[in-house]
Amino acid sequence: MSQVTEKFEFQTEVSKLLKLMIHSLYSNSDVFLRELVSNASDACDKQRFAALDDDGLYGGDSELKIQIRADEENRLLTISDNGIGMSRQELIDNLGTIANSGTAKFLEQMTGDQKKDAHLIGQFGVGFYSAFIVADEVTVRTRKAGESEATLWRSTGEGSFEIETIEKSDRGTQIELKLKEDASTYVNQYKLTELVKRYADHITVPVELYQPEQEKTEYQESKPAGFEQINDAQALWTRDKTELSDEEYQGFYSSISHDFMPPLKWVHNKVEGSLNYTSLLYLPAKAPFDLYNRDANKGLKLFIQRVFIMDDAEQFLPMYLRFIKGVLDCADLPLNVSREILQNAQLTNKLKTALTKRVLSMINALADDNEAYLGFWKEFGVVLKEGLVEDPKNQEKIAGLLRYQHLSAEGLTSLDDYIAQMKPSQEGIYYLTAESEAVAKQSPLLEIFEKNGYDVLIMTDQVDEWVMQQFNQYKEKSFVDIARGELPEDLTQESDEAQDDESSKSDGLFEQIKTTLGDKVSDVRFSKRLVSSPSCLVLSAMDLGPQMKKIMEASGQSMPDSQPILELNASHRLVKHLQNAQEAEAQQLIHVLFGQAELAEGRPLSEPEHYVKSLNELLAKVV
Ligand code: ADP
Ligand code: MG
Repeated sequence: MSQVTEKFEFQTEVSKLLKLMIHSLYSNSDVFLRELVSNASDACDKQRFAALDDDGLYGGDSELKIQIRADEENRLLTISDNGIGMSRQELIDNLGTIANSGTAKFLEQMTGDQKKDAHLIGQFGVGFYSAFIVADEVTVRTRKAGESEATLWRSTGEGSFEIETIEKSDRGTQIELKLKEDASTYVNQYKLTELVKRYADHITVPVELYQPEQEKTEYQESKPAGFEQINDAQALWTRDKTELSDEEYQGFYSSISHDFMPPLKWVHNKVEGSLNYTSLLYLPAKAPFDLYNRDANKGLKLFIQRVFIMDDAEQFLPMYLRFIKGVLDCADLPLNVSREILQNAQLTNKLKTALTKRVLSMINALADDNEAYLGFWKEFGVVLKEGLVEDPKNQEKIAGLLRYQHLSAEGLTSLDDYIAQMKPSQEGIYYLTAESEAVAKQSPLLEIFEKNGYDVLIMTDQVDEWVMQQFNQYKEKSFVDIARGELPEDLTQESDEAQDDESSKSDGLFEQIKTTLGDKVSDVRFSKRLVSSPSCLVLSAMDLGPQMKKIMEASGQSMPDSQPILELNASHRLVKHLQNAQEAEAQQLIHVLFGQAELAEGRPLSEPEHYVKSLNELLAKVV
């Protein structure tokens, strides 16, 4: 029978990626083995899972394994598995295109730092292509479980690949690498043994290496040629805590997470009783690139009595803990569980509650080490804040983990530390939301607090305004947004009388300002919070803050223009001058005072042309 060979072009991104990868990971070429073995192991996991429903899929071959064989003479390296295999179409799709939409991101993220880049491969679902770092030509032979047709894929990694129908007696995938001349180290038994130990010790499938016949020597007995298991292949989480070293935990983490940094912390628990499960949960040191993409893969690896069930089981942790990596092995779930069943099972909720509690106490324990904690906070703090809204039951616990910039010192403070230094008369926990710390710290709204020695939390994350709508109290102290409504009582007393006196004389002025600014402001009044600035804007208690408004608008909702209250500093020279100014000059001053108040808050000018024109006319009088 003559073979029909079909030629296919790689998707453009693949060609690009191949060039980049070969070029930039050249001196980190070891990673190819990690990627190919990890694919083989995934294929075995998938086979085991598919066969849960259909035992026939094993076809009499149910001992899943990965075999590696080196042919030194011909510089060939072969990695075979009896996993699920691929159909012809799957082969074309999986090894000719990049399904993962993160590819562009991957290319962007390539830093030139080979160590880092080598680790990105695994995260971005482009691991297979790393074979071309060491091989001139790659041949894949594969037969899918339950099918009789087998297919060959062959490529030199330069723009195209070939597909052929072939005979293959056993299920699974065999990948044959024709190694480059300078990659001959990968047919060396010692090198291969070391790599398998390094990369595959935590894979639950046995990885075997072909050993040539050994003759009897002084030191060893003779041995016939054959495959020998190299890796441990024991589910790490089933072992006893006391037997496991930090290195083993870390090694396992890197094998399940594709993260090159060691984890910050982990918790490993075996639970028996009304719930029966083992969990091993890790706190990563670095946020993944897609942390803020709520659709990105997340969740735990789910096993049921050591049988791999699924990756990214997201049902067992809340969204705001989506950065946690780990495994859950639960004896109480049925083996044929599906995502739908999980979604609706009561047991899922119980497990979720239990695991959430474990993660929160793990994070809490990390906080004992302030420096490590700040590192964690920088990476994941914003996401954790989502929990204040998402998980009201744990609000108090989450709140204890929060850190904020604040007025009275550099660096971050916890809410507990803030409360500890509150003045006895203080009404609540004062806070200000702003675009950045720099903008916040020059806000006129802070002047009176600074003058009187009150601390104010400064919140600069986009989610803050949204979160603070639902997070009103901590340890019986209320939060007070200092950009809203009236100044708290305890700060107002001193200046009250003088102000009341001024106000009565100024009704005419306020009317004039309202006429000039129209619907840009809802009210004008003298301020009790200003010390050195002439003007500021405050929101009424019900107004949406500027950040919230941005979020709502970004989600396509049209929001009415906000109408803040303009407050003036009655003792400021400019304001005093305004009270006696001529009509034209008064107009100019009003536009300038309003514009400055907007700028001081980091808002865009709502009437830039008036602001610039008025400022220039005023300046023209003095130059
Ligand atoms: P990822 O493993 O992250 O999906 P890879 O580039 O490593 O990305 O592999 C691409 C895809 O090719 C895999 O998702 C899988 O579907 C398929 N594949 C690769 N190797 C094998 C294998 N040994 N057996 C079955 N399928 C495989
Ligand atoms: Mg892979």
